Amino acid sequence: MVFGPMVDGGHEQVTYVSDPETGLRAIVAIHDTTLGPSLGGTRFLDYDTEADALEDVTRLSKAMTYKAAAADLPLGGGKAVILGNPDDLKTDALLEAYGRAVDNLGGRYITSVDVNTGVEDIEVVKQETEYAVGTGDGLGDPSPITAHGVFHGIQTSAEHVYGTDSVEGLEVVIQGLGKVGQALAEELSSAGADVTVSDIDEAHVAAFADEHDVDTVAPGDVYEQSCDVFAPCAVGGVVNDDTIPQLECDIVAGAANNILAERRHAEVLREQGILYAPDYVINAGGLITVAKEYLGGTREEAYEEAAAIGDRLGEMIENAERQETTVLTAAEEYAENRIERADSGQEPAVPAE
Ligand code: NAD
Repeated sequence: MVFGPMVDGGHEQVTYVSDPETGLRAIVAIHDTTLGPSLGGTRFLDYDTEADALEDVTRLSKAMTYKAAAADLPLGGGKAVILGNPDDLKTDALLEAYGRAVDNLGGRYITSVDVNTGVEDIEVVKQETEYAVGTGDGLGDPSPITAHGVFHGIQTSAEHVYGTDSVEGLEVVIQGLGKVGQALAEELSSAGADVTVSDIDEAHVAAFADEHDVDTVAPGDVYEQSCDVFAPCAVGGVVNDDTIPQLECDIVAGAANNILAERRHAEVLREQGILYAPDYVINAGGLITVAKEYLGGTREEAYEEAAAIGDRLGEMIENAERQETTVLTAAEEYAENRIERADSGQEPAVPAE
């Protein structure tokens, strides 16, 4: 149980942390540091079993390696989980003890916010370590930058499907009108797209539609809404065996993490003639923002790098077409090639400017 997920996932290091005084029990998983120090958030969750926590942290840290590599960042993949109910356990003393544990890793792991850890928590962690990003005095809310990257992902996808990268008249359905969904709706509308929005918070949808030139669709009808692009920006797992037969779109491209319920759904979409732009490729604007904060840079630079997501996706789509495979597979190959080239000294871990 202890080594299984680590060996299977090819992780470099898994560290267990305990501080009985504060009740801290944490696992830090460092997947791969070939391209640079590992970066990923700290999740605070009451897992059913310790095995579940280990499974989650190893899976998520590996995903971060691919996300950073596919975003051309000089970073590796890491993630941490703190075990227990945050409502009962989360104290400044526990977060400080956790910060000292992160500091002991000497910069091989840089932490940030995740489920049940916010900016204010990372500020406490940061009192004990310099290896923490996403604080209030950083580059600010990454969500509009995430939306900007998704916008460019949609533009590139449209170019490949319709032969033009203009989003004028493009029909886009956005599921989830949160921080990213709203910013995406606004950016697409300003560029002339026909935007339809949907959220389980229907009062919020109505208020947004009053102030913006968008249509609305009820959450239960969102999958069968005919459109060019379906953009899931709410929760994961929404593209699955039940919803794929309902989809009336040519492109799936959104910000939500783990849009596909299972990896094989990328192939199912391809067989149905639907282009799937991998979520972790086009939603990397948030990671790009915290990376900028850590490595030094401005919010404007983060916007520019998020816009470059479109070009990278284009390369992946072309590779996928050439190899008659999914863009998801092409994205994984892109990330693995970067790591292999850096590992064998063929190119520096940090891409040339
Ligand atoms: P958010 O919490 O601000 O918004 C999520 C919205 O989705 C809420 O308005 C919620 O009511 C709605 N929602 C929840 N379940 C729904 C459902 N079943 N159907 C329709 N609407 C539903 O979150 P966010 O920051 O906008 O992030 C959205 C997604 O993008 C998440 O999956 C997140 O992990 C991912 N993501 C966000 C960022 C970022 O920078 N914020 C970066 C990368 C990935």
